[in-house]
Amino acid sequence: MPSYKAPVEDVKFLLNDVFHFDRYNNLPGFADAAQDVREAILDEAAKFAEEVVQPLNRIGDLEGCTRHDDGRVTTPKGFKDAFKQLGEGGWLGLVGPAEYGGQGLPVTLGQSVAEFMMGANMAFSMYSGLTQGAMAALLVHGSPEQKQKFIPNMIAGKWSGTMNLTEPHCGTDLGLMRTKAVKQADGSYKITGTKIFISGGEQDLTENIVHLVLARIEGAPAGIKGVSLFVVPKVSINADGSLGARNGVSCGSIEHKMGIHGNSTCVMNFDNSTGWLVGEENKGMNAMFVMMNEARLGVGMQGLAQSEVAYQNAVAYAKDRLQGRSLTGAKAPEKPADPIIVHPDIRRALMSMRAFNEAARALVVWTSLKSDVAHRSDDAKERQSADDHMGLLTPVIKGVLTDVGFANTVAAQQVFGGHGYIAEWGMEQFVRDARIAMIYEGANGIQGLDLVGRKLPKDGGRAAMGFFAEVAAFAKDNAGDDMKPYVAPLSTALGHLQQATGWLMQNGLAKPDNAGAASTDYMHLFGLVVLAYMWAKMARVANDKIAAGDNSDYIKAKLVTGRFFMERMLPETATHLARIQSGAATLMELPAEVF
Ligand SMILES: Cc1cc2nc3c(=O)[nH]c(=O)nc-3n(C[C@H](O)[C@H](O)[C@H](O)COP(=O)(O)OP(=O)(O)OC[C@H]3O[C@@H](n4cnc5c(N)ncnc54)[C@H](O)[C@@H]3O)c2cc1C
Repeated sequence: MPSYKAPVEDVKFLLNDVFHFDRYNNLPGFADAAQDVREAILDEAAKFAEEVVQPLNRIGDLEGCTRHDDGRVTTPKGFKDAFKQLGEGGWLGLVGPAEYGGQGLPVTLGQSVAEFMMGANMAFSMYSGLTQGAMAALLVHGSPEQKQKFIPNMIAGKWSGTMNLTEPHCGTDLGLMRTKAVKQADGSYKITGTKIFISGGEQDLTENIVHLVLARIEGAPAGIKGVSLFVVPKVSINADGSLGARNGVSCGSIEHKMGIHGNSTCVMNFDNSTGWLVGEENKGMNAMFVMMNEARLGVGMQGLAQSEVAYQNAVAYAKDRLQGRSLTGAKAPEKPADPIIVHPDIRRALMSMRAFNEAARALVVWTSLKSDVAHRSDDAKERQSADDHMGLLTPVIKGVLTDVGFANTVAAQQVFGGHGYIAEWGMEQFVRDARIAMIYEGANGIQGLDLVGRKLPKDGGRAAMGFFAEVAAFAKDNAGDDMKPYVAPLSTALGHLQQATGWLMQNGLAKPDNAGAASTDYMHLFGLVVLAYMWAKMARVANDKIAAGDNSDYIKAKLVTGRFFMERMLPETATHLARIQSGAATLMELPAEVF
């Protein structure tokens, strides 16, 4: 049976030493998360994830969700009680505003707690993740009455949230959406249509479900510019806040799927259901983007979290499993064979996972801090720069962390040999669960296109140029011998990224297929450079700590793992660059009939 240990020490290192959390004390909420407080929160969250949430992971996979004839859906044994504890323990309101019952703490802290929950049980954590995303959209775009009506109960864990975009004929291309909304005399709307693949669309964890639904108001312009966002509760709410009659929303069926069995994936029928507009008419995508950016960061983290838990179990197995002898002579001569961790090829797999996980975690923490600055700073320039960062790196985090995270679950499964393929070891569940993260919240191909087509050229390339300048300045300021193994490869990789960017500017605008053909490679090239930058920043801190007398294995391992990333993983930037520069001609040459 797999186990999970929340990476608390790593998060503390990142918050305290690498990103200097306390320097943000001028922002609302940060002073309330002083080191002792935030560390106590992280320790408690780890305990909850390890002791309450993780034990439900396998049960959830085996049992799955069940839809009953009356449309009710039951979740696996134990989920309901754990969700109740999540609400009662204040975990759903960690970052929510105090006026609605939340604790107003920084998003950065909330994201680290979220990683622990996702690593413990991805399917379970989706119910709370989507609730947080729905709250975020309502907080930014909802009316004061809507916020007051929905958010306190969501924070308390009494009501959950969902996100309803996808329809049978439209997933990526939401402009094709057909669900319609008809305005009523009292200002509400009647919503009719079918949504598919709705996570947590029906469940038995909460007494109400707050559906955020995209629909087209009668007479709205065609395409994406005619889509509006509505809030549609499963059960209507009386004027005094009590629950009233059932709204016209029901679950038609649930999907049988590859992974995340503990999370219900529902076909949702909206049948003249009553909803209220969130934000402005025909500006639904703007409102939904708040939720989507939040959700994309969360989905990127799912990739990291599955990679982390798979890695931890692969390490334990590699220390235990005896096969063959070390190439340099027996390491456990008293045993019939050496543990497989002595073999360089097993080390290659473990080090690759570890080097990715630690840098990816740093990237998420760094970006979460930017999110806090973007939302909480009163300095317009700071907000803009943080916003640039978020816009540019959201597709990179979503696409790269889920692609590599999934690949790592397969690599961890491989460490188990045949046992990795056998269900009772639990490794194949990580593979199955991690796979969806590459698909939903915008398939990863679309993340690459978003990066190349929208985020890169936005504002004349300001965000990308800002990032390149920051990395170059870091390299210049850290030219000493102790940093050479990190900074020299980082500079080479940055050069590749800049060449690729220049090539896209020259060849992508005139021939858009060149940009489309380059997009996935460009996203991964960008990801490698930003992860290398994270390693260089961590190496700086580790070197300083060692110079100051820190002799811990933890700090020494940081330097070795960082070097591994630079030597063994970062060189792939050259391959990505070569692919990008080969253009679209050959890739597009065969006529469709030939396939
Ligand atoms: C388990 C699960 C849970 C989900 N949860 C939710 C949820 O809670 N709410 C919700 O609204 N949806 C949800 N979804 C839906 C999910 O977001 C969509 O499946 C996803 O966005 C892709 O849409 P699609 O399946 O229609 O694929 P399509 O849009 O048909 O895409 C098929 C392929 O074509 C590629 N493609 C499409 N257009 C282009 C283009 N212009 N250029 C290049 N490539 C392109 C895509 O990258 C993809 O690889 C969920 C799906 C699953 C399976």
